[in-house]
Formats: sequence, structure tokens, C-alpha cells
Amino acid sequence: MRDPVPTVTLPSGIMVPALGLGTWNMGENSATARDEIASLKTGLDLGMTLIDTAEMYADGGSEEIVGKAIEGRRDEVFLVSKVYPANASQGAVAACERSLKRLQTDRLDLYLLHWRGNYPLEETVEAFEDLKAAGKIEAWGVSNFDVVDMDELLSVPNGGNVAANQVLYNLSRRGIEYDLLPWCQERGIPIMAYSPIEQGRLLHHPELIRIAKIYQATPAQVALAFLLERDGVIPIPKSSNPQRIEENRDSVDIDITDEDWAVLDAAFPPPSRKKSLDML
Ligand code: NDP
Repeated sequence: MRDPVPTVTLPSGIMVPALGLGTWNMGENSATARDEIASLKTGLDLGMTLIDTAEMYADGGSEEIVGKAIEGRRDEVFLVSKVYPANASQGAVAACERSLKRLQTDRLDLYLLHWRGNYPLEETVEAFEDLKAAGKIEAWGVSNFDVVDMDELLSVPNGGNVAANQVLYNLSRRGIEYDLLPWCQERGIPIMAYSPIEQGRLLHHPELIRIAKIYQATPAQVALAFLLERDGVIPIPKSSNPQRIEENRDSVDIDITDEDWAVLDAAFPPPSRKKSLDML
């Protein structure tokens, strides 16, 4: 028996799974579409019902794959997409319509500004609020925003309605623990942790491999358990392989001792001073 997927509560009070599904690189190649759709469906079956996509991924191809994976089961899914900064401000309204069409749905649960870009924040917030009022999105958020950006966001009208910040966070990228993570935790704004296994690069680390063996787990599972251990953090690993989706899902069952967390802290030290936010 698997433990249920834990949940994270959004500022609106809605609970979402603390472990979601990434989709970057999906929709690039028709030969792999079937595996991509099967992987997402496996994730949904296993309770990883938060799916993250973006208009940028495969120029909309990833959203099309997601649309196929959620066909007939839209209500099970917490659907997240992102707008290109160049399509932000009032352009976000048309960009959202295009995303909805590719996703074959009438609403997004969360719409993120992919990175900051050049438009004034108040214009994009206004467009997001318009989309909310029109029922096209339930909530909006940001991505790749550091503390200084979040502070500025909160200073614009309705900026305090931000529902999440999606940033690079994993064992080898712990900079946000110094300031951004506590900043968001204090305000109840979830962090969606992207590239939670550093796109696979983390998995060869000898200390991670050694600790994983102790728990009869895989390095990917321990890397995800590290993020799941933190309040308000939602890792969104991507895999186009249903078996790996199952493996990632089972990270919620691993209970690592304080002693072994200390070993991982020594191997992947937390930050001792401010670092600017890493991006991929
Ligand atoms: P991840 O850290 O999720 O790693 C994905 C890679 O790891 C893929 O190559 C996948 O291969 C492989 N993989 C997945 N699970 C396992 C496993 N258990 N064992 C071994 N290998 C595994 O990187 P991503 O960059 O994809 O990040 C996750 C998601 O975050 C993205 O897909 C996207 O939705 C989002 N993102 C957002 C960004 C932003 O700017 N907001 C930037 C980057 C990502 P395979 O598919 O073959 O299994």
C-alpha cells in the first residue's frame, strides 16, 4: 500500500498534491508522444494530479500532449501553464486562449508568468485578474522571481493575489533556503520546485547514491523526498517513462532519519549567504 500523496494548501485554501508532473521537452517528437501521454496518465492514476506545462514547451506541443492526457478527466487535474514574458501584459489574455485551445479545456487552475520580462508587473497582474474575472483561470502566479521581485510584486495593485512562485530548487541548488523559501513560507505562498532532480545530473552523486541504498530507494527518490520534507514545496519532476513516474511517486514513502539528512547537508550544503536565484 502506498502512502497518499501529501498536499500543499494554496493561499485560496485549495489543496493540491505536493508532488506534480513536469512536461518540458514533451511534444517535441511524434514518435514519443504515446509514451508521454501514458506517463502523464500513470501519474494521474497515482495521485500526482498537478500537471505543469507552458506555451513555450515545444511551441505549444507540450500543452497538446497534456490536453490528450487529461481528456475525459479534466476535473481530476490541477492544471498549470505559463505565459511567455513577451506575451505578458494584456497579451496574456490572447495567449491564455491559445493555451486553453491546445489543452482542450475552458480553464486553467494556475497561470504563471514564466519569468519576469520587460512589461510592468502591474499590467500583467491586471491581465491575470481580468482572466480570473472571466473564469479562464482560477489563480495566477509567477516563476523565476527572487525576493526583490516578489517584494515589488506585492507592492502593485492586487499583486498580493499571487498564488505560487515556480523556481529552480533541488539538493544541488539550495540558494533559496537563505531567503526566498522562508519569505514564501511566511506568507503561505507555495514554491513549485522545478528541475527537482537537476534534469538527471544529480543522480550520479556518490553520497546521494550511498544514502539511497540505505533506504532501498533510488537517488531520484531521495532527491524528491528532500523537497517533499519542506513545507509548501511542490516538486514537479518530468518523466516520459511510466515506470519512472511510479518510482518518483514512491518518493513519498521514504522516511529519512535526521542523521542521514545531516549527511546530505554535508554533501549538499545549505547556503550561508545570499545567492541570486539560479535559472535554467
Ligand atoms: P527534472 O529534474 O524533472 O528531470 C527530468 C529528466 O530526468 C528527464 O530527462 C527524465 O528523463 C529524467 N528522469 C525523471 N525521473 C527519473 C528517474 N526516476 N530516474 C532517472 N531519470 C529520471 O527536470 P525538468 O527540467 O524537466 O524539470 C521538471 C519540470 O519543471 C519541467 O518538465 C517543467 O514542467 C518545469 N520547469 C520549469 C521551468 C521554469 O522556468 N519555470 C524551467 C525548467 C523546468 P525521462 O523523461 O526519459 O524519464
